[in-house]
Amino acid sequence: MNKLNRRLFLVSGLAAGGALALPNLAGAGPSIAAVRDPFLLGVASGDPRPDGMVLWTRLAQAPLDVGGGMGSTAVPVEWQVATDEAFTNIVQTGTETAVPAEGFSVHAEPRGLPAGAEFFYRFRANGFISPVGRTRTAPAPGTTPSTLTFAVASCQHFEEGWYHAHRFMAADDPDLILFLGDYMYEKASGLATRVRWYVDFDETDVLDEYRQKYAQIRTDPNIQAAHAAAPWLAVFDDHELKNNWWGVSSDVPDTRKQASFQAFWENMPLPKAMKPVNAAIPLYRRVGWGALARFHMMDTRQYRWKQAPNNNNTNCTELRRADRTLTGAAQEQWLLDGFAAGGSRWDFLGQQVFFAANDTDGASSTCDVNEDAWDGYPASRQRITQGWVDRGVRNPVVLTGDVHRHWANNLRLNYVDQSSPFVGTELVATSVTSTGDPGATDNPPQVPNNPHLYYVGNHRGYVRVRASAAQLTADFMKVSSVVQKDPTKVTRSVRKSFVVEDGVPGVQEP
Ligand code: FE
Ligand code: CA
Repeated sequence: MNKLNRRLFLVSGLAAGGALALPNLAGAGPSIAAVRDPFLLGVASGDPRPDGMVLWTRLAQAPLDVGGGMGSTAVPVEWQVATDEAFTNIVQTGTETAVPAEGFSVHAEPRGLPAGAEFFYRFRANGFISPVGRTRTAPAPGTTPSTLTFAVASCQHFEEGWYHAHRFMAADDPDLILFLGDYMYEKASGLATRVRWYVDFDETDVLDEYRQKYAQIRTDPNIQAAHAAAPWLAVFDDHELKNNWWGVSSDVPDTRKQASFQAFWENMPLPKAMKPVNAAIPLYRRVGWGALARFHMMDTRQYRWKQAPNNNNTNCTELRRADRTLTGAAQEQWLLDGFAAGGSRWDFLGQQVFFAANDTDGASSTCDVNEDAWDGYPASRQRITQGWVDRGVRNPVVLTGDVHRHWANNLRLNYVDQSSPFVGTELVATSVTSTGDPGATDNPPQVPNNPHLYYVGNHRGYVRVRASAAQLTADFMKVSSVVQKDPTKVTRSVRKSFVVEDGVPGVQEP
């Protein structure tokens, strides 16, 4: 029996055993061109709602090839949702069509599932069955689950390390995984310590190349495990398109934006409604978790003004313009309206760039800041911070990526006045791999002029959050090495933990 027949035999054996309730699709049997497993990129789920979620896969028989070895013919893909991992209790099924124009991606959206429940899902195409993923629906509106656990991660240059953090995230069994950008880097790494290599070294600027880079990333077993373990809330930062790109009038051509957004949508468990139209993608959205939490997932790239010039503090006029915006007017209003709606114990702002002020000399007369972060858009930050204060948001917590360090920050309305009260909390997740293993300096010295910046740690890893009605615990997780490939030689540890108590802005030692 050859390999194909053996696999088909196993599949039909499953069907005969009752594990597969679906009949064979008429005319959808394996063709001559479809003789290999098309599920080499794994499965994923995302954007849970009280009655459903997005179930994702992307067919590729040859993931590293342009086109994924899938040819040009659409493929029907069946999906199943069950309450048990053995699929003895299948509660919903459906069929999607994977088409070349969407990179053979599948975004199935079951509806009508019970709220606050765990499910298992899988796909079938060309006679093959996918790996099984685990997902869940959000709690019903108004209900308060006893706890919510989630991981926060960002920045995972494929070449700069092994994805051990993803394996550990999966093992934590979180309700959700937030990925806050730089999932894919458009260029090869400049590090001397690259652990692996993109198949295409060129800076990516066309759709086939973006697709190929995502596919290569998705062949990694650890990231497949994290995607299969829990639903994700994913937003991009800059590198999914190009370093430090900005706004609608960026110098990046629309054709390249369109390719980047399309590839991001194809490769993430995002709803069909978020499919890009031309050079725009509707990325920001809100995900509720009963009365316990809301996630305001933000887009800090598409609508921002150009970064202010870095001019060595000789002229701060542009940076200090009162009308500067990082979010754009529409997203800002959407955020303020969300704050006003209330009804949530914890309000998480899932976004990309450093929110708290981080002024290198602490002198209010200068503007020596990171122009790409919120420090480069202080008026925009002020409107949003004042916005949540004025609307009585109970526990605002900003979740951030981008800077390849762990940070725990206390947020103020006025960062120059150190007697100004704390009005919120920021948890910054370090990189999964980007910049590789840290050097001998584990903790770089804290900027002395910014006492609201409470903790900084130079590790690779992620942040693990457990929230209940009474308090939130943030564990800053450290992975011992991303250069070491052997999983038996890599450990993870809680480098630092903080507590945020209900109604008390800012982090506290536990
Ligand atoms: Fe990054
Ligand atoms: Ca300054």
